[in-house]
Amino acid sequence: MAPPGPAARQLPEDAIPGDVVALCRKLQEAGHATFVVGGAVRDVLLGRHGPGADFDVATAALPDEVRRIFGRRRTLPIGIKHGTVTVLLGEGESRRQVEVTTFRGEGAYVDGRRPESVEFLHSIEEDLARRDFTVNAIAYDPVARALVDPHGGLGDLDARLVRAVGDPAARFGEDGLRCMRAVRFAATLEMALDPATRAAIPGALETFRKVSAERVRDELCKLLLAKRPAVGLDLMRETGLLAEVIPELLEGVGLVQNRFHHHDVWRHTLATVDAVEPRLALRLAALLHDVGKPRTAEAREEAPSENRFFHHESVGARLADEIMRRLRFSNAERELVVHLVAQHMYYYTGDWTPQAVRRFLRRVGPEHVDEVFALRAADIVGFGHGDDPEDEIAPLRLRVAEALREAAALKVSDLVIGGADVMQALGLPPGPPVGKVLARLLERVLDDPTLNTREALLALLPEVAREADAETP
Ligand code: ATP
Ligand code: MG
Repeated sequence: MAPPGPAARQLPEDAIPGDVVALCRKLQEAGHATFVVGGAVRDVLLGRHGPGADFDVATAALPDEVRRIFGRRRTLPIGIKHGTVTVLLGEGESRRQVEVTTFRGEGAYVDGRRPESVEFLHSIEEDLARRDFTVNAIAYDPVARALVDPHGGLGDLDARLVRAVGDPAARFGEDGLRCMRAVRFAATLEMALDPATRAAIPGALETFRKVSAERVRDELCKLLLAKRPAVGLDLMRETGLLAEVIPELLEGVGLVQNRFHHHDVWRHTLATVDAVEPRLALRLAALLHDVGKPRTAEAREEAPSENRFFHHESVGARLADEIMRRLRFSNAERELVVHLVAQHMYYYTGDWTPQAVRRFLRRVGPEHVDEVFALRAADIVGFGHGDDPEDEIAPLRLRVAEALREAAALKVSDLVIGGADVMQALGLPPGPPVGKVLARLLERVLDDPTLNTREALLALLPEVAREADAETP
């Protein structure tokens, strides 16, 4: 038997949780048309709606009416200006927040930015018409168990197409972020971009430029958490979005590497992003790990068709820092990614001494070793030769575990004496020289962990202080 066509599709009875159905029923009983909408309906239809995912509800009821029906104690007016009231359902474990938004259009768009004002409307059809893509513009009445699909979203789900509602150029001209959302959904939903929708992006880049960095960043982050972000990243390149968001990465397109690499810098970057586990910091680090290569590329003397990239990790870390500031990432996110980019190059060989392993650990930080290994493993996969990354990583992983078991100190705060001891013993006032002395003591302990005792460190102090003094210009 052929599968049912889209029109005949019926959602299973338990597709929408009982408390969400009850919320819709309550609004309907008060006389207001009410539907589950947007990403939740789409993901249920795709069979990818996970437990704990959000359900968004659209209703004819005005925000004040929604608050009256569910009570002030069970509602939060966070988005009320835009027509959204958050309704709190359930208790304890089964607590859930549902965003209930009054059917709305969006007042005139100014400059491709989100409008200041919204206009409340009466029908679900009008509400669906202002949504971005057909697969996001399907509504479901869970009481009547009826789908509302005026834009052919069900057919596009079957065809696996991301297609703008209405005229793509006009829709992208209203809100430039939709260009970025198009490639983001193509990646996360693993769908193709409808040719007309895709063709409208280059012409909308001027509008896209007016979108705030924060909104662009949020879409980029969602794209990077797709199963295979490479698809979306390459679409960004082809449509001109990459040139707007991270132009530095374009410098790697077509840039030949050397015999260790099967791909140019850009293809290698894409393969590395896809290979690393979907944690945001790791995906960002993979995206930016070789961003310094183009600016450090130098033909090898012995093999002029090959390039080498001295210090690309430090140039890359500087660029990653600039890029992440520009995209308004938090300091913590930025610092972690920059650190991973800076530390992604190391050359482990079996003859590393225990001191070398401890220095590696101190540089990388014990808390970041696993992230550096994960990035390294993906980097090796990205070489494109089919090598098993564990061949290289497993031996160092063992050495690191051993060093962590035995290490007496890997950072200044692990030393058994502190700044106060140094100041007292040397008669120093607080200030940078104290830190220099402690850093030198740590160097000694990294070489010989048995020195991390009070007597041994105090005995070393005069000598270390002289060295620290000599170092000062
Ligand atoms: P996700 O699973 O990533 O949250 P989503 O579809 O729920 O996907 P949201 O950004 O949460 O995406 O938006 C919810 C819904 O609101 C979308 O499905 C879409 O119908 C509509 N929407 C969101 N942003 C826009 C926009 N910029 N232009 C038009 N419609 C939008
Ligand atoms: Mg959502």
